[in-house]
Amino acid sequence: MKVLVVGGGGREHAIVWALSKSRKADQLFCAPGNGGIASLAECIPIKATDVEVMVAWAVSHAIDFVVVAPDDPLALGMVDAMEAAGIPAFGPRANAAIIEASKVFSKNLMAKYHIPTAKYNTFTDMDAALSYVREQGAPIVVKADGLALGKGVIVAQSVEEAEDAVRSMMADKRFGEAGTRLVIEECMTGPEVTVLAFCDGEHVVPMPSSQDHKRAFDGNKGPNTGGMGAISPSPNYTPEVAERCMKEIFLPTVAALKAEGRPFHGVLYFGLMLTPDGPKVVEYNARFGDPECQAVLSLLESDLLDIMLACREGTLDQLDIRWKDAAACCLVLASGGYPGKYQSGYPISGLEKAGETAMVFHAGTRLDEDGQVLTAGGRVLGVTATGPALADAIDGAYSAAKHISFTDMQFRTDIGRV
Ligand code: AMP
Repeated sequence: MKVLVVGGGGREHAIVWALSKSRKADQLFCAPGNGGIASLAECIPIKATDVEVMVAWAVSHAIDFVVVAPDDPLALGMVDAMEAAGIPAFGPRANAAIIEASKVFSKNLMAKYHIPTAKYNTFTDMDAALSYVREQGAPIVVKADGLALGKGVIVAQSVEEAEDAVRSMMADKRFGEAGTRLVIEECMTGPEVTVLAFCDGEHVVPMPSSQDHKRAFDGNKGPNTGGMGAISPSPNYTPEVAERCMKEIFLPTVAALKAEGRPFHGVLYFGLMLTPDGPKVVEYNARFGDPECQAVLSLLESDLLDIMLACREGTLDQLDIRWKDAAACCLVLASGGYPGKYQSGYPISGLEKAGETAMVFHAGTRLDEDGQVLTAGGRVLGVTATGPALADAIDGAYSAAKHISFTDMQFRTDIGRV
């Protein structure tokens, strides 16, 4: 089969790597791809959000299957457009991807189907939102309704901070149209766990749990980022918690989407908080999370393409999906200054040596004319190692990363330890 993966970050590198081991994938393409993906797939210079051009390219190159990995093209209906052109695609259609693209939609869905989540209210009027914040007091959480590059959530520790968040989203349009509507919700407490799950419209198969590290600096300090590292499985996700999540959250969510006429095919990301009252949903994403994806997919033993085809066809229940009985750690190496301003274009050394003991997934890299790998983004690499126990995986990722260097390289020293 000729397979096209849409996207160009660490997540897409991990997906392309897993697909490259498939018996069925004869030819792999990735658009736009990056400097690391180029060693496994032919990179095509088309922007991930350019739906029309992507579909036309896939049709003219007789692509058999498309994997749409990032949130934006999913929300823009790239899966629908591929299908309309006769090409089966992995990922939810736009009417199901809305579970991520609109927080108002997802909160209302959870309320309607009694899926545990934080108590909330939705607002389109700024004065009403401000009065609500004053009435409820702090801490309180203010969320822009739409996609905001993972930055549209403010966990406010004071009423003033919450008021500022409301004003900056609604009056100053800090996140553009994404902030026209707001969700304001109760602040929950407890450890956070991510569970990615394969879905075929009806069945749901959770992958090993994982834990992201969103803050830029050690000790969970500093600004939120796209993710500075991840481990899998999460030590907090016990078999008892898993059973409860399946019964109270995963199965009801997939059934709810089906009942609403929005069957979910693809990867559903459950961001969970293990509160004193039990597991609750913090957020849904409609795709693999990054960097969790890098850690989790490194534990997959089964053929990823078989699983993705089954998600499309509704036959997940006929597969026996196998995972390594091991742990994984993904350590992100970022450009100095990220998530704020940073420089790029620096040469990266030591990739080969690091690659002898770990998978080095590329997130923001490119190749120059001589084939030298250069930095080309905030998050540059995801050094991912596996081991029999979590401590081995963490050691493996840090030992491999020691070989890598580039100007102003920045990383956390406590991934998997906080
Ligand atoms: P989200 O983009 O919805 O995942 O939110 C980003 C982060 O904000 C989450 O990973 C949580 O750490 C935090 N957060 C979101 N909603 C809540 C909530 N209701 N209570 C406490 N923390 C939250």
